[in-house]
Amino acid sequence: MVIDILTLFPEMFSPLEYSIIKRARDKDIIKINLYNIRDFTLDKHNRVDDYPYGGGSGMVMMADPIYRAMEHICRDKIKKPRTILMTPGGEKFNQGTAKELAKEEELIFICGHYEGIDERIMTLIDCQVSIGDYVITGGELAAMVVIDSVSRMVPGVLSSKESYEEESFFDGLLEYPQYTRPEIYRDMKVPEVLLSGHHENVNKWRRYQSLKKTYRLRPDLIDYGKLSDKDKKMLLD
Ligand code: SAM
Repeated sequence: MVIDILTLFPEMFSPLEYSIIKRARDKDIIKINLYNIRDFTLDKHNRVDDYPYGGGSGMVMMADPIYRAMEHICRDKIKKPRTILMTPGGEKFNQGTAKELAKEEELIFICGHYEGIDERIMTLIDCQVSIGDYVITGGELAAMVVIDSVSRMVPGVLSSKESYEEESFFDGLLEYPQYTRPEIYRDMKVPEVLLSGHHENVNKWRRYQSLKKTYRLRPDLIDYGKLSDKDKKMLLD
């Protein structure tokens, strides 16, 4: 997958140089291209923002450098890649959106800053994405959250599909509790079933824990219509 990022602060993307995303980039499974919006200004001071029409506080990013950056990125492409604007007003990001975006060959992320971007860039945008109902300083952190979670689902990034299919939200529930060595830590024991080597019982236990945990912490996630009779019985226990 190719990921193009339009930002005023390319240096902020260094977290994508570590861990799993780094390995995916080293193997060319994920290619990340950073574009500094400032490089696409025509004015000699490389100005990227201006006062808002109608007055008010803060500065607004100008549309022109972003149009120029997009023209540059898309110049030889037959099809414009899906273009995402990071904005608090966008659709709230979740695992479902990540799964859908992971199917694309190329994605373009536009990161706002200051008071946001001139509304006239909307003709370039295919979808608007928010990471939650709060405002952060710029789209960079938000884009990194989305990029990290989408990248994990690109084939080859994780060692197996199970790595993300068994995680929270994939099947609509939270993940079951995990344990590792030692068997007893400060008088706390690993549940017996996990030491039994009996795969069917382990799976049953995990499903039960997953249902219970979701019911306790995030009951809003449970879609009762989709639960099997076995699941419903487990929840009632
Ligand atoms: N004036 C804007 C408003 O009230 O909606 C907020 C601008 S915010 C300070 C600057 C930039 O940060 C936005 O253009 C957007 O790119 C990014 N941003 C802030 N909060 C975000 C969120 N919850 N999700 C995605 N992007 C966000």
